[in-house]
Amino acid sequence: MGGRDTDMVLLDENGIRCDGRKVDEPRRIMIKAGVLKNANGSAYIEFGDNKILAGVYGPRDVHPKHMSNADTGILRCRYHMVPFSVAERKNPAPSRREIEISKVIREALEPAVMLEKFPRTAVDVYMEILQADGGTRCAALDAAAVALADAGIPMRDMVSACAAGKVADTIILDVNNEEDQAGQADMPIAYMPNLNQITLLQLDGVMSLEEYNKCIEVGIQGCKTVYALQKKALAEKYFPEEQT
Ligand code: UDP
Repeated sequence: MGGRDTDMVLLDENGIRCDGRKVDEPRRIMIKAGVLKNANGSAYIEFGDNKILAGVYGPRDVHPKHMSNADTGILRCRYHMVPFSVAERKNPAPSRREIEISKVIREALEPAVMLEKFPRTAVDVYMEILQADGGTRCAALDAAAVALADAGIPMRDMVSACAAGKVADTIILDVNNEEDQAGQADMPIAYMPNLNQITLLQLDGVMSLEEYNKCIEVGIQGCKTVYALQKKALAEKYFPEEQT
């Protein structure tokens, strides 16, 4: 972020972006539910060139016990980049950034998960970023929400995430890595589509109030696109005979 690479053409005169997309076009998204045998629930997502696995365990006993809550279950989330996920080998130890992203993902999922049904237990969500290309927190969240549903954890709604942003003074949907690095703003959004509630909104960059409102509107449209694919992934696993 922050207009570092000024030579790159982020938006050409025909309104086409550096990867050939239109301003309101998301990258190719593929989601598969139930890909791991040993987790209670799991999902794999490809979001453009992002490749992410999510696995869920629980509800299960909390260790250490003093971390448990007698009134409710707790959600624990770990977002982790594998060493080969980025161009320069990533140290596998948790970075400040990964700790922050784990926290915001937990806070984005908590409103949807009916943790009050499972006092004293924990639901653990692990997200492994196998390949990163901008927008990993949203894509990881999308996989995590499907993995939670696949684990049979009761949820008030799905959580669907997609970023919007600003390049060349234009609001765009689904910011890729180049746009994140050289663009003007990046706004990851997570959204509960049936409850019509935003559960994550971050903004890196500067925009006017008008652009801000437009960015939210565009981002929510992206979340709705993701939601359809999350439902499709679960339907393909649980109702395969109904899929054409
Ligand atoms: N990135 C990287 N090395 C790192 C962390 C991030 O190359 O150690 C890249 C990666 O492609 C990531 C992008 O920078 O997707 C943007 O990172 P950001 O912190 O904005 O989070 P994201 O957009 O992935 O949610």
